[in-house]
Amino acid sequence: MHYEGNIIRPPSEANSILLQVTVGCSHNKCTFCGAYKGERFRIKPDAVILEDIAFAAAHCQRQRRVFLCDGDALIVPQKRLLRILKEIRRQLPWVTRVGVYANAKSIGLKTPEALGELRELGLGIAYMGLETGDDATLRQIRKGVTAETMIQMGRKLRAAGIKLSVTVLLGIAGRERSMTHARETGRVLSAIDPEYVGALSLMLIPGTPLHADFAAGSFPLLTSAEMLQELGAMIAHTTLSRGLFHANHASNYLPIKARLPRDKETTLQLIDQALSGKVALKPEYLRAL
Ligand code: SF4
Repeated sequence: MHYEGNIIRPPSEANSILLQVTVGCSHNKCTFCGAYKGERFRIKPDAVILEDIAFAAAHCQRQRRVFLCDGDALIVPQKRLLRILKEIRRQLPWVTRVGVYANAKSIGLKTPEALGELRELGLGIAYMGLETGDDATLRQIRKGVTAETMIQMGRKLRAAGIKLSVTVLLGIAGRERSMTHARETGRVLSAIDPEYVGALSLMLIPGTPLHADFAAGSFPLLTSAEMLQELGAMIAHTTLSRGLFHANHASNYLPIKARLPRDKETTLQLIDQALSGKVALKPEYLRAL
C-alpha cells in the first residue's frame, strides 16, 4: 500500500483495509488537532489508488471492510469517488462496508442524490467530528461551521441511508463553558439522532494552538471529575431514538458503552458513582490517544 504521512482511522475501523485516497485534511484549521499539521491536502492520483485496491485484492481477502483515509475523503469529487467505490466492488467483492471521515463542508458539496449513489455503491458509514454543539466553542476552536449546519449535514447523510458516527470532545470548551458545551452538544446530537456517538476526552497535542493557549495559561484543562460531570450532563441532554453512546476510547477516564435510550439512567447512575468515588477511574498514565 502507498501510505503517506499519518494514517488515522476510527477505533471501530481497526480491522478494515485502510485505503488512502487523500493526504491530510482539506480544513486543517481546528485548534486542538495535530493530525495533519504541516501536511498539504491533496487527492492521491487514481493510478496509485487503483494499485492499492489491486494490492488489497491479492492480500486482504479476510478483511470485510474498507476505510477510506485521510481526514475527509468524502471531499473527493463525485466521479472519482464513484470510480473508487466501483473498483472496490469489482476487485474486493467480499467487502460489505466502506467507511469514510466526513466534515460539514464535504457533505455540503454532495447533493442528496450524489450521497444516495455513494450509498448504493457501498458507502455504509461516515464519521463526523462535531466536537461540540456550542457555537461559541465551535468558533473558538476554528471548526469553520455552526451547530445548525452540523445538524443539517448530519441529517442529510442519514436521509441518504448512510450510517453516521459523530465524535464529541469532552473538555474542549474549557471550564467556564463546560456545562453549556454539554447541554448544547446534547441538543445537537438529539437533533441529528445518529446511530453512534463517540465521546473522547481532550488531550492536548504539542504544536497545536490549543496547547499553546494552555501553556500560556489562557485555556484550562478539565480534571477527570470535571470531564465526567460534563459527560453526565451531555448524556442527560441527549435523546437518541436508537443509538450507541460510547465513551470507551483510550483517552477516557471511565469506559462507557450505552445503548440509548435504554441505558440512559443506569449510565447516569454509574457516572454518579464514579464521581462519588465508588467506581475507580482510569489512572492518567493509562490514558492514550
Ligand atoms: S476537520 Fe478533523 S482532521 Fe481536519 S483539522 Fe479539524 S479535527 Fe483535524
